[in-house]
Amino acid sequence: MKIGALKERFRGEARVALTPESAGQLQKLGHECLIETGAGMAAGFDDEAYRTAGVTVVEGPTALFDAAEVVIKVREPSDEEAERLREGQTLISFFWPAQNEAMLEKCRAKGASVIAMDMVPRISRAQKMDALSSMANIAGYRAVIEAGNHFGRFFTGQVTAAGKVPPAKVLVIGAGVAGLAAIGTATSLGAVVRAFDVRPEVSEQIESMGAEFLFLDFDDTQDGSESGGYASPSSPEFREKQLECFRAQAAEVDIVITTALIPGRPAPKLWLEDMVALMKPGSVIVDLAAEKGGNCDLTKPDERVVSDNGVIVIGYTDFPSRMATQASLLYATNIRHMLSDLTPEKDGVIVHDMEDDVIRGATVTHRSEITFPPPPPKVK
Ligand code: NAD
Repeated sequence: MKIGALKERFRGEARVALTPESAGQLQKLGHECLIETGAGMAAGFDDEAYRTAGVTVVEGPTALFDAAEVVIKVREPSDEEAERLREGQTLISFFWPAQNEAMLEKCRAKGASVIAMDMVPRISRAQKMDALSSMANIAGYRAVIEAGNHFGRFFTGQVTAAGKVPPAKVLVIGAGVAGLAAIGTATSLGAVVRAFDVRPEVSEQIESMGAEFLFLDFDDTQDGSESGGYASPSSPEFREKQLECFRAQAAEVDIVITTALIPGRPAPKLWLEDMVALMKPGSVIVDLAAEKGGNCDLTKPDERVVSDNGVIVIGYTDFPSRMATQASLLYATNIRHMLSDLTPEKDGVIVHDMEDDVIRGATVTHRSEITFPPPPPKVK
C-alpha cells in the first residue's frame, strides 16, 4: 500500500508522522512511503533524508491525498484535509472523536476509515502504539526543562567556594505518565522532589524514583477517587485535605508541575490563587493540564504569565512539539507499530480487522459508519 505523510499545517505544529527510520520499517512490511515536501523540516528531517530512505517526496497536499491509500499525520484533520479524503482511504492521526463529532461525520460521509491514535486501548499489547503515553512522557520531561529555563537557580544543591547552594524543591501533582516523567527528570537534575496523586498505588513507583510521596491524613488512604486504574473526582472532604497539604507546601517549594487530569472532565483546580500568593518570587509553575482548563487558577493556555508576587506560571499546550525531533521519532514509531498490526502478512496488504481489540478500539469510522465509541476491550 502507499502510505503518505502529510505536512502539518496547524499553527506552531512541528511534528511529523513519518521519519526516515520509520519509513525503512514500513518498507520492510511491503509498503511504499510518500511524504509531502517539507513535512519533516521542522522536526529535523529534510526531503533529502527521506529520499535517501527510499521515500517519494510529493509536492503539496493534493498530490499526497491523490497518491496515498493510507494518509498519516499528527494533528486531527482540518476541514480542508477531511474534504480531500476519498472512499476507501484510511487516515491515521490523533482525532479526539468525543470532541470532534462534526469531523467524525465528515470523514464518515467521505467513506474513509479513520484510526484515532488517541483511542488506542491502554492494554499491555498496545503499549507500543500508545501515542498518548509517548507524548505525555515528552511533556513531563520538557515541563521540567522549561521550568529550569525560567528558574533563576540550580536544581541540584552545591557546595562551592562562593557558598552553599540548597537544592531546588519540586512538587509534582498527578503521577500519570507525564507526572512520572517529570519526577524522573527533576530527580536526575538533583532536585528534592515531592509528588502527590489520588491513586495511592503510584506511591511505590514515586519512591523508587527517589521522590517523596505526600500522604494525606485521610483515613490512612488516598482512596475514594479512583476507579479502574483511572482517577475520578475527589469527595469534598478529600479535596479539602489535599488543598491543605498543598497550602503547606506552597511556601516551601520552588517549582510546581501539575499534571492532574480526570478522563472526560475539565482539569481539577488544585493550585489556587492563595497558594500562588504564598510562593516565593521567582518560583515557577508549569501546568500541563492547561489545555483542559488548567490545575492552577492563574494558568492561561499557551501563555506564560507572572503573578503579582513574581511567580511564573507556564500554560503551554505544545510541549511535545517543542521537542519535535524526539516526539516525531516516537510518534512515527507508534504509527509504524499500528501499521504493522494492520499488515499481518507483512506483504503490503492492509487488513482492517475489526475483530482485533486494538484496531477496533482505535477505529472511529469504517466503511461509511461511525464506529465510535468502541465496545470495551476483551483482554487486558
Ligand atoms: P492522566 O494524564 O489522565 O492523568 C494524570 C494523573 O492525574 C493521573 O495519575 C491521575 O490519577 C492524577 N489525578 C487526577 N486527579 C487528581 C487530583 N485531584 N490530585 C492529584 N492527582 C490527580 O494520566 P495518564 O498518564 O493517562 O494515566 C492514567 C492511567 O492510565 C494510569 O492508571 C496509568 O497507569 C494508565 N495507563 C496505562 C497504560 C497502558 O497500560 N498501556 C498506558 C498509560 C497509562
